[in-house]
Amino acid sequence: MCRRCFAESVEDKVRATIVRHRMLEYNDHVAVAVSGGKDSLTLLEVLAKMERNYPRATLVAVTVDEGIRGYRDEAMEIAAATCTRLGIQNHTVSFKQLYGYTLDEIVERIRERKNPLTPCAFCGVLRRKALNVAALEVNANKIATGHTLDDEVQTSLLNIFHGDVPKIAAEGPVTGKVHPRLVQKVKPLCEIPERESALYAYVKDVAFQSTPCPYAGEAMRNDIRALLNRMEERHAGTKFTVSKSIARLRPALAGLNGKSEFQACRECGEPAAGELCMACQLLKQIQ
Ligand code: SF4
Ligand code: ZN
Repeated sequence: MCRRCFAESVEDKVRATIVRHRMLEYNDHVAVAVSGGKDSLTLLEVLAKMERNYPRATLVAVTVDEGIRGYRDEAMEIAAATCTRLGIQNHTVSFKQLYGYTLDEIVERIRERKNPLTPCAFCGVLRRKALNVAALEVNANKIATGHTLDDEVQTSLLNIFHGDVPKIAAEGPVTGKVHPRLVQKVKPLCEIPERESALYAYVKDVAFQSTPCPYAGEAMRNDIRALLNRMEERHAGTKFTVSKSIARLRPALAGLNGKSEFQACRECGEPAAGELCMACQLLKQIQ
């Protein structure tokens, strides 16, 4: 297959995923979460191309600066340069500005206090909230993220390893519209293996950050990624099979979540399932 045919085959698969899961409407204002890594830039590239056929839809890139020295700065520059090339606005928010700490400062504190949580546990929750804030700031009605098939299968297994089975139901390709201040999320690459996403970036000459995050080594996700890659090597199709099994289980698991009643977080005013939102609960642990 030539470079052009490969790129078009990926674009076709993404389009089919969007249609199958009814992810986007012709007049959506979509905030694309762009980190500067290969998957988010592949997503931006594919959506920018698709958007040309939907004149009433608009795209804006949103980037979260977690504040990770020697890692984030390069990724932010790559994200900004790609947005300039594609003529897409790049809106950024930072942990420092939103929470008062960079991730580096948070990690220092969790290590001082011997907090058992990993940097990724903090980063994941704080970044999710930051993305939502960024999307609200640009008046987007959808957030598109670059989660690939690999990410999705890893997350489902992680939830099982953490004993958080109800979360599997909440983490599908499209999140529900549960609160007016929680922007709906869609994952157009959820059926694209990570390898194909990387190859797409390569054949389209998309520059992306390849150095790993300095905190990535501490995450359980790495062990699950290695396990799944080993299984895939020995039994081709494993990732698709697990993904399909989870999709079949999801409706049955949805009932386990119960109905969440949202209230305004006592600290920040954003929607929360209890008195405090998850981000404020975590920040309390380091203050
Ligand atoms: Fe954040 Fe962990 Fe990803 Fe680093 S590897 S950016 S700490 S979630
Ligand atoms: Zn809060």
